[in-house]
Amino acid sequence: MSARLAIALLAAACVGSSCLAWGEDGHRIVGALAMERLSPEARASVIELLGNDDLATAGLWADQIRGDASWDWAKPLHYVNLPRDDSVFDAARDCPEGQCVVAAIPRFLAVAADTSRPIAERRDALRFAIHFIGDLHQPLHAGYKDDLGGNRIQVTAFGDIRTNLHALWDSVLIRDRIAGDWQALAQSLRGAITPALAAEWASQADAAAWANESACITRVIYLELPADAKVGADYARSNMPTVERRLSMAGVRLAHAINAAFKVPAAVSGNRSPAPEQDGQVGPADRSVPVNVPSGGVGGAPR
Ligand SMILES: [Zn+2]
Repeated sequence: MSARLAIALLAAACVGSSCLAWGEDGHRIVGALAMERLSPEARASVIELLGNDDLATAGLWADQIRGDASWDWAKPLHYVNLPRDDSVFDAARDCPEGQCVVAAIPRFLAVAADTSRPIAERRDALRFAIHFIGDLHQPLHAGYKDDLGGNRIQVTAFGDIRTNLHALWDSVLIRDRIAGDWQALAQSLRGAITPALAAEWASQADAAAWANESACITRVIYLELPADAKVGADYARSNMPTVERRLSMAGVRLAHAINAAFKVPAAVSGNRSPAPEQDGQVGPADRSVPVNVPSGGVGGAPR
């Protein structure tokens, strides 16, 4: 099979009904899109935990604490690694002991909604969940372990920006598009989310499916990266629709996930039912983490 045909087939597989971390701009856009889609009861719970309903800002916290070693246990929870020859998430293979973004999302949402827990723990859990839902929609957060989700692939963008593949998709493409005004892009994306699209995206509420979508796009990203790793206006033009779609999907699904987590049960039934992966711990006790992110030295782009 020719490379071109392989790309076409993969792209087609990604377009269907299901497929189609951003840097600060991306997370802000995802949060802003989600904010206005919160149900009244979810908004009240968010305000109770965060002090406001500013999801655009809340999504940044999980990256802001990265320099603090006491939060190192959370680093593997920003992404998931898959084998290069498989773009279907396998929990036993890809997320042992729940130490990946796919398992972290429902776990943190359940903690955030668990009113028996301390408010500070619930607040942090909510901020993690907001961030991780954004992250998982950045295709390269379902990437490959050997190059750290593209962090080790050096790329030159727009002639003079020396970056790496991960950072290109996290922020360089978005920065080029927004020219300093993330709110304008949020506004434009907001206008393009039809009720039908929102319903379609929200109907897929399983983080494993979001990982599969991202992994599928990731394969295409690698196939389409020019051999000289130089990308410019043409690359941006052909890939920004994917970036924008993933941001929009993340915003819709973030709101949907928060709305579901904080839904008041119809009947009084004691404890809220936990998410499947909830193991009762989100704190530093989750330390049985297979470390697979060497710190620093690879361009510094966080995953
Ligand atoms: Zn992240």
